[in-house]
Parts: sequence; C-alpha cells; structure tokens
Amino acid sequence: MMTTLIQNCSLLDSSSPKGYIEHQDILICDHRIAAVQSTGAIANSDRVIDGQGLLALPGLINSHTHSPENILRATVEQLHLELWLVKQFAHRANFPLRLIYLITLAGTAEMIRSGTTAVLDHFWMAQSLTLEGLDAAMHAYAESGMRVGLAPLVEDQNLILEYAVRAEPRLALLEEDQENRAVSSDLLVLLQDFFERWHLKENGRLKCLPGPGGPQWCSRHLLQGCLELAQQFNTGFHLHLAETCLQSKVCLSIYGRPAILELEEMGILGPNTSIAHGVWISDGLLCGGGLQRGPLPQTRQRRGRRAGEGIQGDDGLRNPRGGARCLQRGRGRHRLRRVYGQRGAEDQRGPGGHG
Ligand SMILES: [Zn+2]
Repeated sequence: MMTTLIQNCSLLDSSSPKGYIEHQDILICDHRIAAVQSTGAIANSDRVIDGQGLLALPGLINSHTHSPENILRATVEQLHLELWLVKQFAHRANFPLRLIYLITLAGTAEMIRSGTTAVLDHFWMAQSLTLEGLDAAMHAYAESGMRVGLAPLVEDQNLILEYAVRAEPRLALLEEDQENRAVSSDLLVLLQDFFERWHLKENGRLKCLPGPGGPQWCSRHLLQGCLELAQQFNTGFHLHLAETCLQSKVCLSIYGRPAILELEEMGILGPNTSIAHGVWISDGLLCGGGLQRGPLPQTRQRRGRRAGEGIQGDDGLRNPRGGARCLQRGRGRHRLRRVYGQRGAEDQRGPGGHG
C-alpha cells in the first residue's frame, strides 16, 4: 500500500474563525484520504509533499457545462443567445468519435488542474445524438477519474422558430430544418440504451441523467419520457430554463403560463432536478417551488436544492470569457484572497486563466 503525506498545509474550514486551519497533515493511502491530523502527529509515509503555504480544499463541482464546446472556445463573438445559437450551430459541427473522446478528455484535464473533480456535462452532438458519440465521451470520463453526470441534450421541437414564423412568415424558410428534427420516441430509446450501458459504472462514479434542452425545444411527450427514465434509474434530471427573455415569452405564449409552472405540474421539479440559468423566473415562483439559486457565470443557475460553496457552472467553454476554472469565480476566489492575499489568489489561476 503506497502512502503519501502532505505535510504542514492549511485546510479550508468554514467553521473556524479564519475560514481555514493551519499546520495540518493529510495522509493519503492508495489515492484516498486516510487521516487528517495536526502537523507531526503522523509519523511515517512512503512519500512526503511539503504543504507549507498551500491550502487544501475539497474538489469543486462544475454543475453545468457542454463538453463539445471545449474545442469551440471564442469561435463565435458574444451575441444575444438566440443569434449566438444560429451562428454556433450553422456549420453543424460533426465531430468524429476520436475527436469527441479527445475533446472531452482535454476538458477533464483543465478542470482537474484547477481543482474541479466533479462535473455535470449537458452533452450535445450537433447533427444527431448517437450511442457511439456518448460512448466516446464516457470513455474519456471513465479514464479521467472524475465524478461525472452526463446528461445527453435531447430536443424534438423549436418553439422559438415557430413563434418567429408567426411574426414573420418569411422565416418559414428556416423550417425545412424541422424535417430533420429528431423523433421523441427515438431519443428515448437512445437514452434508455445509454443509461443501461453506463449508469453507475466505475463503482458509481459515472452517472447518466436525461438532459432535455429546455421546454421551448422539447415536446411534452419527450419531457414526460425523460422524467420516467429518471425515475426508472433513480437518477437526476437536468435542463435549461428561461435563459433569455425571448425564451420566457415564447413559453408563456405557447403554454399560457410560465414554463416553470408547466414543469411543476408535470412533476419535474424536485430535489433531483437541476435547472441551468433560470434567469427569467420571478422570485415568487422560485420560492413557491422551493427552489434556490446557485452560481453560474454570465447568467445564473438555479437548483432544486441549495448550491454549496464549491458548486459552479461554466456553461461550456466557447465563450472567450469562459473557462473551466470554477475556483477563480465567486466566493472561492475571495476565500483564497483571505488566505493568500490578492497576489496569491491571482497566482493560483495559472497560465491562461480567465476571470
Ligand atoms: Zn448550457
């Protein structure tokens, strides 16, 4: 049994007056923490790492990302989301399986390097989702050692486009795309196959979740099917909701009420459901559903339970201001500043860090 001792480091501890405790030793046996004690209390170890001046903290959680965007960083300028989506998917990027594997693996390297050890990947494929593509991503995650929830992003309608065509019939030209739109029953079969192949593999480290794109992009049949799958496999449910004012208004027009109420009636809201963004939801509706906010750069993220300090979403890395370094945002960064001072916190960002 190989043992490693990290000697004389500080430990993040929100219960202590300073927010951290100094002069601690961490003993690691076969890749697992076996003991944490005051410096000097643990005598022998195969390997010793000097932890003086370093802060040990639990692994961070990236609660919403899209791994295919690891390779699309800064390829589209910052636009309003609806315009950005048109440009982003105009070329219908169809990555070979080997590239999907490498893109996913590269993302894990960047996350691990910055202290993120768990991720919820809202994984998409631009043309059509395939079991082989999902396998490629999951093989990369299996090798990475990270804890992973992979939620294949599924969609079978486009209410945004339908709404736009009502206002401007000439936009019907774009509707030819509808003929290639996925059928909900096919998507549900694909998800079932994927779940049976990967859910709880690697001693439970890998999980599968249904990941509908959002109520404006999914039929009621698809949402209901995803919910049934989540219940069947006793797993979570992840989706975008009300990221833009337009999305919110389209759903209001189609459903006759806010989309979150539609989801609530379907039984989708609950402790196992996490919602990315949720910007255009009133606080009254949030509190009524028992929902609370979690952090998400650029917009916001709301979750079915309270988000902890180490939870942060990056919503994909395609944005030039994005990055997988959850720690550099929000309270984690402020905590580092308290321990190391301003300069020390900046140093933790490493080369190429984004704010
Ligand atoms: Zn997203």
